[in-house]
Amino acid sequence: MSQVAKKAYELWPGKNKFYFKGKIMLGPDYHRAVLTFFLIFLPEIAFLSTTSQYFTVTISILSIIFAIACIGSLFIIATSNPGYILKQEYPFYMGPLGSPTIHSALIAEPSKAAAIENPCFELVINGSRVKIKNCRTCWIVRPPRTSHCSECNLCVERFDHHCPWVGICIGKYNYSKFLIFLGLTNILVLFDFICCIIHISYVTIDINNQSLSSKQQDEKILENAGSSIFLGLYMFIFLIFIGGLTVFHCVLISKGLTTSEVMRNSYKEFRANPFVKKNFWGNFCSVIGQKKKKSVNLMKEVKEKSGEACNECVSYEAFNKLGTNTEFEVRYDNDKLGDKEDVSVSPIY
Ligand SMILES: [Zn+2]
Ligand SMILES: [Zn+2]
Repeated sequence: MSQVAKKAYELWPGKNKFYFKGKIMLGPDYHRAVLTFFLIFLPEIAFLSTTSQYFTVTISILSIIFAIACIGSLFIIATSNPGYILKQEYPFYMGPLGSPTIHSALIAEPSKAAAIENPCFELVINGSRVKIKNCRTCWIVRPPRTSHCSECNLCVERFDHHCPWVGICIGKYNYSKFLIFLGLTNILVLFDFICCIIHISYVTIDINNQSLSSKQQDEKILENAGSSIFLGLYMFIFLIFIGGLTVFHCVLISKGLTTSEVMRNSYKEFRANPFVKKNFWGNFCSVIGQKKKKSVNLMKEVKEKSGEACNECVSYEAFNKLGTNTEFEVRYDNDKLGDKEDVSVSPIY
């Protein structure tokens, strides 16, 4: 078996892209974040070179500050880790809470394969039954609320959604960043929109005071406030979308739900959701108070393993020839997983 020295990030098991020698991680659809950047940046440049010229310099400065904050938060969210649980493959495998990985359990007792292949057992959390599943792609027992993202090809803790605007998943550890991005974008777009409306109003009042025909008035308004009309319309559409998204996420927080759970209709009754807190504030704190946990050093040098037979690599051949047994489930009982949402089966980076 040949071994080649590589940095750990080069063996990253998801579809993320790494830059600056692994220091910057982007989502698999990072070009979408670039597109979002231009959707914010270009109208802002247009605003600063047209509408804001009719106001004092303070308006331009405020708009620039809001734009920098908005674009900065876009960069932060696009390079954040949503709570990926690394696939339990070389070199990232780690036992959940000290228990064996599915992979190592398979090597030790290969007859447990069927339990992994047909996986599902339940935990009782706050009086509700929550299904716990294995992920055959990542070789993990998924913590509650974890889902596998096919775009990132990794499981994500408290998976919310794979965001088409930033090209990365939104999950347990970047949801608060996502909310900040939404908030700052709302502020920027609303500010620019109000400035456009004020400018259009001033121009309209001014022209209405002149003795002109209605056609001439319309032409004059277009001539003097055309850019503000166009930008105002753009900001209005943007505002409806981003404002609607913000309201949607406020409703989700108030109900203690994720987008994914709503889409899958996970809890048919409000009372059946075991993760909802007593009030909005409790739910809000539970989604924003997630700090980055123990990390894997992606810069460390590891040996890339090659060859088919490998005692440390997951072998699909080994997996497929195993017998039937459900004993494996017993290993991951309530004592191991705990009874809270926050149980983490695997450290994140
Ligand atoms: Zn997975
Ligand atoms: Zn994803």
